[in-house]
Amino acid sequence: MNLILVLGDQLNRQISSLTDLDRRKDVVLICEVWEEAEYTNHHKKKLAFIFSAMRHFADELRAQGITVRYTKLQKTEKTSSFRSEVEKAIRELKPERIVVTEPSEYCVLNDIKSWAFDLPIEIRPDTRFLISKDEFSGWAKGRKQLRMEYFYRDVRRKYSILMEGDNPAGGQWNFDKQNRNPLKEKTNIPAPYVEAPDRITLEVIAMIDEYFGGNFGDLHPFYFAVTREQALKALDQFVLERLTNFGSYQDAMLQNEPWLYHSHLSFYLNCGLLLPVDCIRTAEEAYRSGQAPLNSVEGFIRQIAGWREFVRGIYWLTMPAYADANFLEAYRPLPSFFWTEDTQMNCLRQCIKETKENAYTHHIQRLMVIGNFSLLAALHPDDVNDWFLSVYADAYQWVELPNVTGMILFADGGVLASKPYAASGAYINRMSNYCKGCRYKVTKKNGPDACPFNYLYWNFLIRNDQKLRSNPRLRIAYQNLDRMSEDKTDAVKADSQRFFNALENEEKI
Ligand SMILES: Cc1cc2nc3c(=O)[nH]c(=O)nc-3n(C[C@H](O)[C@H](O)[C@H](O)COP(=O)(O)OP(=O)(O)OC[C@H]3O[C@@H](n4cnc5c(N)ncnc54)[C@H](O)[C@@H]3O)c2cc1C
Ligand code: SF4
Repeated sequence: MNLILVLGDQLNRQISSLTDLDRRKDVVLICEVWEEAEYTNHHKKKLAFIFSAMRHFADELRAQGITVRYTKLQKTEKTSSFRSEVEKAIRELKPERIVVTEPSEYCVLNDIKSWAFDLPIEIRPDTRFLISKDEFSGWAKGRKQLRMEYFYRDVRRKYSILMEGDNPAGGQWNFDKQNRNPLKEKTNIPAPYVEAPDRITLEVIAMIDEYFGGNFGDLHPFYFAVTREQALKALDQFVLERLTNFGSYQDAMLQNEPWLYHSHLSFYLNCGLLLPVDCIRTAEEAYRSGQAPLNSVEGFIRQIAGWREFVRGIYWLTMPAYADANFLEAYRPLPSFFWTEDTQMNCLRQCIKETKENAYTHHIQRLMVIGNFSLLAALHPDDVNDWFLSVYADAYQWVELPNVTGMILFADGGVLASKPYAASGAYINRMSNYCKGCRYKVTKKNGPDACPFNYLYWNFLIRNDQKLRSNPRLRIAYQNLDRMSEDKTDAVKADSQRFFNALENEEKI
């Protein structure tokens, strides 16, 4: 008899550990454990979502005649871990073998590899991704630079995604230039997918309220899909109602509009309810049938076949060293307003408020508002990683860490991105309407009323001169800095110092 351990982000019948399951003998073990639930201040919605999806998956397997041993979080067993649950199951069930699909996170894999039970442990490859870890390291080998764009083209070719013979559909690999439109006022943005909590979800919500009431984030209202069937409905709704505009407004931000034309599918993809091929093929079909334009479909597919696979590849290629990377020697602790939203900077307040409400913000809010601020304020990568890992329902270290350490903080020195995504307030003003409702003036460059992003941007270039000046993609930025008068650079430094002093003194900035 095999004891098949299924982890909370492997909720798919097609995972490798379940492919040859023998219903007559094998037992599937799914467990809620304190070690995972408590290692960071997880958003309450994130916990409720994952536990509810796990419980629903267990029921689906049972309905297929499979024996499932499911352990719920117990107040009386506060030390539970995967190891302790597997140990108990071995004692009681006496299996011949443990089978598990490779965990998505480095620490969990190492933990499992260290188990020394008196029976074999078979760790099978995680086939939920398009590109295996070995394929990625093969692709990366010998390259001077790892760039997502070239990787993405190879994935398209390999799976024949949006291809016309040997050429990309529409004659171009990338339609990003058409995908940078702002949205200055509310248009007819469709409502997001909403699933009313059923009995299982309500039980989980009550448990989260009781055990994790002090954690970050709003538990109510809860509206996530929690089964594969529901997640597929959410995918269909996205393709039908939002995909057409996805590309054009991919980078836009709008006050009090958290969902816009994004897919909101990352939670479902990352816990296994959806597979990348589900999303890619459904979107491609929408293009082929004339339902959605190529710039949108290509843009959406690039996020999944390109970015998502690429960041996972980088994670496994570079761990464990990547988790300690701090190329720019950033050192400031995370300001308390990241938890309280108590800041006068409207863009940040808005994005943090939405994070608290939904355990979700879209990519540009993460990258160009919260991320940009973290970069310019030299926040320590450990603090920023911990925050991003806790607050989003889609956050697992394999995807969160490269996005934070590589994409927003440039703490990896350029492994993932060719330049830091640093920007002044002008970018945020161009892509959103946040500045209209802000106490600061985006057009002012210096002084107490100036938008802090404006002087912090130049201060960032000055502070990191030695490390960044030779980056060819920052040549123009440094040329502009060199043309600045001494008075102006002095003002930038003085404003930044005043701002950082206020941060350190916990004044409301
Ligand atoms: C600082 C920072 C932290 C992030 N942390 C996470 C995280 O913990 N988990 C996570 O899934 N994504 C993370 N992302 C990537 C991206 O922001 C989210 O995947 C996206 O916002 C999820 O919303 P959506 O499903 O509506 O995405 P859409 O905009 O609809 O995009 C479609 C899908 O593409 C994938 N995708 C897009 N961009 C990325 C990316 N950069 N990396 C990986 N996948 C991508 C996601 O699966 C997403 O569902 C992070 C980005 C940044 C800048
Ligand atoms: S003025 Fe600056 S701080 Fe205020 S919303 Fe605009 S970019 Fe953000």
